[in-house]
Amino acid sequence: MSEYQYDLFVIGAGSGGVRAARMSADLGAKVAIAENRYLGGTCVNLGCVPKKLFMYASHFAEDFENAKGFGWNVGAPEFNWKTLLSNKNLEINRLNSVYQRILDNAGVETKLGHGKIIDEHTVQVGNDTFTSERILIATGGWPSIPDIPGKEHIISSNEAFYLESLPEKVIVVGGGYIAVEFAGIFHGLGVDTTLLYRGDLFLRGFDYDLRETLADEMTKKNINMQFNANISTIEKEGEQLIATLEDGSKLEAGKIMYATGRIPMTENLGLENVNITLDKKGAIVVNEEYQTNVPSIYAIGDVTDRVQLTPVALAEGIVLARRLYTGQDGDVDYSDIPTCVFSQPNLGTVGLTEEEARAKYGEIDIYKSTFKPMKLSLTDSDEKTLMKLIVDKASDKVVGVHMLGPDAGEIIQGIGIAMKAGATKKVFDSTIGIHPTAAEEFVTMQNPVKQ
Ligand code: FAD
Ligand code: NDP
Repeated sequence: MSEYQYDLFVIGAGSGGVRAARMSADLGAKVAIAENRYLGGTCVNLGCVPKKLFMYASHFAEDFENAKGFGWNVGAPEFNWKTLLSNKNLEINRLNSVYQRILDNAGVETKLGHGKIIDEHTVQVGNDTFTSERILIATGGWPSIPDIPGKEHIISSNEAFYLESLPEKVIVVGGGYIAVEFAGIFHGLGVDTTLLYRGDLFLRGFDYDLRETLADEMTKKNINMQFNANISTIEKEGEQLIATLEDGSKLEAGKIMYATGRIPMTENLGLENVNITLDKKGAIVVNEEYQTNVPSIYAIGDVTDRVQLTPVALAEGIVLARRLYTGQDGDVDYSDIPTCVFSQPNLGTVGLTEEEARAKYGEIDIYKSTFKPMKLSLTDSDEKTLMKLIVDKASDKVVGVHMLGPDAGEIIQGIGIAMKAGATKKVFDSTIGIHPTAAEEFVTMQNPVKQ
């Protein structure tokens, strides 16, 4: 008989926490999980899922327009924000119940309330305390908003998912995934949208060609793209917000949304009770086995600030559960993680950017193709798709694949498997295409770009 009530007590029922809890219970551990907000965490409630639903909703604006070229007379489309919001909320409620069922079926005990660590083996939730051989922190992250005068008027993506009504004008600040995705969403839903980014070109870290082409595409759609721009103060005048930029110019909007990164959520978690080590950004420091400096306490997912993506948190949860309850070794492979910015058009990518590949391999071949996708051929749209392969000349290995275009996320997921398998350009070339698709372009690129 263990001296503890549980083998594992998980704090945070998001992507990583639920996966680790469920897997550990399936492997025979006695598990409890605390959640103070919503089952399913950020991804289900304030992240991937509602974001993608909003993206689909906003893209209909172009779809209706493009349908005309194929003979459809769709009349003047009307959009109802309240309908979208309430349908989105229903879907999230459904997913919340699915998560509850997953936990129940696995025999994980759910404790609704704020989890706080009291000592190395004790967690408090509300007025109850529970002992556990091990504790797992999977509390995720939270929007980080810079401290500027007028900060109280700013919304983050959290609030954007629950706006009472859409503003006529919005300013989105930031140049990462969330800012770019939301600029597309607001614009598609008919909001006059400005995207402000402090640097020369948004999506730092992604392949330059794609960043540049996406900026062009968003500009063509009439999103007001302002780079090298930042807000110094915000004032409220009636219902309107007036942003004064660092160069002294002013912009007016009904809402100003900041998407300027996320910080680890460790508020009131009792970390001081056990002296858990944090890094400079406040992330929990773990070793390769997801163990903190306190041997009985582990952490995974966004709270460790490694790669803030749902599939990464899931992979960490799986590996941790297996390590703890089967004794199996095994690591999460953080190389070549495929990812997609759900911008309009989508930007999907896996492996190295051109700049990174050049620095790592020296001699590389670049294959590029820019074209108008067939689906837009009968329409007035001049949106371009860009596909790019980067090959290490010495080994012929494909080391980077990038795509800007419809369904880039769907296509790059498959390519990610080929990259993991170490596919060479010769293997890509020997693969028969599926015709007519955009994806076939990746297996038919013949001539490298002259450099
Ligand atoms: P979370 O999912 O954040 O879960 C943490 C949970 O812990 C939460 O439910 C929280 O309420 C709970 N919690 C916190 N503190 C306590 C406490 N003290 N006691 C009890 N419970 C607590 N990733 C993708 O891969 N694809 C996407 O398209 C994507 N889109 C995104 C869009 C947006 C707008 C945002 C914000 C994020 C997006 N992400 C996306 C990132 C993804 O949501 C996160 O990487 C993922 O949710 C991290 O999982 P996690 O388990 O670490 O934390
Ligand atoms: P990111 O880290 O991706 O981007 C933050 C952006 O804000 C950067 O452009 C950064 O600029 C800028 N910034 C940071 N601080 C300031 C400041 N003080 N003033 C002005 N600009 C600032 O964060 P996000 O909030 O967009 O998203 C958080 C994470 O969530 C992402 O990194 C991603 O891992 C995950 N996510 C994944 C999605 C997906 O998979 N599709 C979708 C949404 C989120 P600079 O580049 O100059 O530092």
